[in-house]
Amino acid sequence: MTDYQLLIDGELVDSPQTMEVVNPATEEIIAKCPRGTKELADKAIAAAKKAFPAWSKKPLKERAALLNKLADAMDEHSGELTATLTREQGKPLAEAEQEIQFAIIFVRYFAAQDIPVKHLKDDENCRIEEHHLPLGVVGGIIPWNFPVLVMMAKLPPALLAGNTIVLKPSPTTPLGSLRICELAKDIFPAGVVNIITDQNDLGSYLTQHPDVAKISFTGSVATGKKVMESTAATLKRITLELGGNDPGIILDDVNVDEVAQKVFAAAFVNCGQVCLALKRIYIHESIYEELCNKLVEHAKAAIVDDGSLQGTTIGPLQNKNQYEKVQAFLEQAKRDGNVATGGEVMERAGFFIQPTIIRDIEDGAQIVDEEQFGPILPLVKYKNLDEVIDRINASEYGLGASVWSSDVDKAQDIAKRVVAGTVWVNQHFAMSPDVPFGGAKSSGIGVEFAEEGLAEYTQRQIINVAK
Ligand code: NAD
Repeated sequence: MTDYQLLIDGELVDSPQTMEVVNPATEEIIAKCPRGTKELADKAIAAAKKAFPAWSKKPLKERAALLNKLADAMDEHSGELTATLTREQGKPLAEAEQEIQFAIIFVRYFAAQDIPVKHLKDDENCRIEEHHLPLGVVGGIIPWNFPVLVMMAKLPPALLAGNTIVLKPSPTTPLGSLRICELAKDIFPAGVVNIITDQNDLGSYLTQHPDVAKISFTGSVATGKKVMESTAATLKRITLELGGNDPGIILDDVNVDEVAQKVFAAAFVNCGQVCLALKRIYIHESIYEELCNKLVEHAKAAIVDDGSLQGTTIGPLQNKNQYEKVQAFLEQAKRDGNVATGGEVMERAGFFIQPTIIRDIEDGAQIVDEEQFGPILPLVKYKNLDEVIDRINASEYGLGASVWSSDVDKAQDIAKRVVAGTVWVNQHFAMSPDVPFGGAKSSGIGVEFAEEGLAEYTQRQIINVAK
């Protein structure tokens, strides 16, 4: 038996194979957990399929009550979940605590929703109603940057709508999800919640499986494309929340101090490993030097260390692959622009890279055009706003963006011209479970959160009665 187990058909189970989980701040192995196999995935899917008829027939209020119990259990164990999240993911304790609390808010939000019948028409000829039926078994595929929050953006709406679920966390961050499923074991009927782990080799098994009705996937654009392809044969419902390359457009009239602080936070939270992090900043030439200098000050003041130490503001990259990928971005960025601060890997154990600001850089450079997903922020100088908007809209990404100005009306007009799922004004990365969230272009298909996100876990059914 390992420190953690899988939850399949209401039982905590081991696997013939195990895998090790590493703390990215120390590179030490912190836990062993079972590694899922195709046989275990089959068992999990079969259990979810078997549990579906009874679960979907339960009144919605009863399903909601059990979700609230899960939120209570997470609340009760929030200290332990926070520490586990920091140890496996690397983010500072304060950010881990926010993630756990936000995840609980998501569970409670969905537990408070209803899926009412809509009365579309009632006249002398007919009565038409719109119902929402559950789909069946949902596969929830989770990335490593917000493992608990992303899990809780999927499980509650899936279950509230009457579906059952098989979760698959990322290989490098399975522990928090496994622990929450252990809590779920004593709350939900057997088979309603199941979890398998893998080494990046069972995701496609889930996406192709004929007994999985829907895939809710969060991860990279490259994997999202594979998910779309592999779900085609069974015509599964899919929601894809993918990568982003969020631009910030800074107008010449901003309060530079205030904006520098907010932009820095939105770019370097979770060591820059956020789909919605600010990843490229377009600054009007008249304030370029001043804002660049302020951002450098923030980078120098950051405390980069093991996230479990009090006071740490930026932790390590989450895993070795990402660390190596970001190093390659860094080397290319140094050739394409000038390092204003940072620019080096830190000589210590753990996957640490100095918070880096790259200046004097243009569109066309890799660090501007592609998703770096790490602590490197490129600053692009602009003169002409129309031209900047065209350049931004030429990107394949369209997850988020923000416009910063003292003139809110002007900023809002600019926001409407940017093609992205969310465009903020004078803030970035503000999210809420009651506001739909999804990407434009290659950043995704469908939405999560809110009524629209909940509806994606259902089949719309029209009942049309002749009179
Ligand atoms: P990833 O695509 O490598 O992996 C995501 C998940 O997919 C993991 O669980 C992985 O095991 C699984 N997977 C791997 N191959 C698969 C396949 N062929 N079929 C099905 N599943 C497969 O992404 P990552 O590196 O874990 O996460 C970082 C990426 O996720 C970034 O691009 C980031 O922007 C994006 N992201 C997006 C959002 C959003 O809501 N839009 C949120 C968080 C992260």
